[in-house]
Amino acid sequence: MTAIFLSDLHLSVETPLLTGLFEEFLSGKARSASSLYILGDLFEYWAGDDDLDDPFNSRIVSAMRSCSAHVPILFMHGNRDFLIGKAFAEASGTTLLDDLLVADIHGIPTLIMHGDSLCTDDTGYQEFRRMVRSADWKARFMAQPLADRKAQIAALRVRSEAEKRVKSMEIMDVNQGETIRMMRQHGCTRLIHGHTHRPATHHLDLDGTRAERWVLADWRNEGSYLACDPDNWHSERITTSER
Ligand code: MN
Repeated sequence: MTAIFLSDLHLSVETPLLTGLFEEFLSGKARSASSLYILGDLFEYWAGDDDLDDPFNSRIVSAMRSCSAHVPILFMHGNRDFLIGKAFAEASGTTLLDDLLVADIHGIPTLIMHGDSLCTDDTGYQEFRRMVRSADWKARFMAQPLADRKAQIAALRVRSEAEKRVKSMEIMDVNQGETIRMMRQHGCTRLIHGHTHRPATHHLDLDGTRAERWVLADWRNEGSYLACDPDNWHSERITTSER
């Protein structure tokens, strides 16, 4: 049985191709998986569960709900959609995961994360993350009208794009020391994460043991997922030619 992992789809009304590929995937291949893990940034942004009625959002939610009748869908927050809550989970038939999961994937203790918390060299971002992830900040943000929240998120996205252009690539990647520290702390020899948009399989030495870090691909011109079979892990593309 295949466990499937994907992340960083960044879906919005501006990504009709990827949205179509995701729907196709949910109504096809995903259904034969043993479990489907979505590791964050499914959406380009999520303003709050009171936006579930939005036509785009409800389209995605209903596709997920149909799929969830065939395969358990597990969702972990990304930095773009960390405001996804219980109402979304209920409507989409998914299970909300904590920010960090240790799972036994075919006998291999595996650490599963979105990945942004590993980018500790980006101290500015980590400070921002601590702020917006606090219960206090979230309560104050959610107390504002939906339209106001959307406007603030739009402004934030513009600012974040501008900042990314001046930050070095190294700063925005995971910190090797933090990665090793987390894997050691949780007794895992494999790590699966997304966020950095730098798909790769990195081999590392974890206190004399061979370990691997699997970085999921973002969805840009096509979709992608990691398929974990008992004796083989590999990434697969999701393209229109699958039709
Ligand atoms: Mn991310």
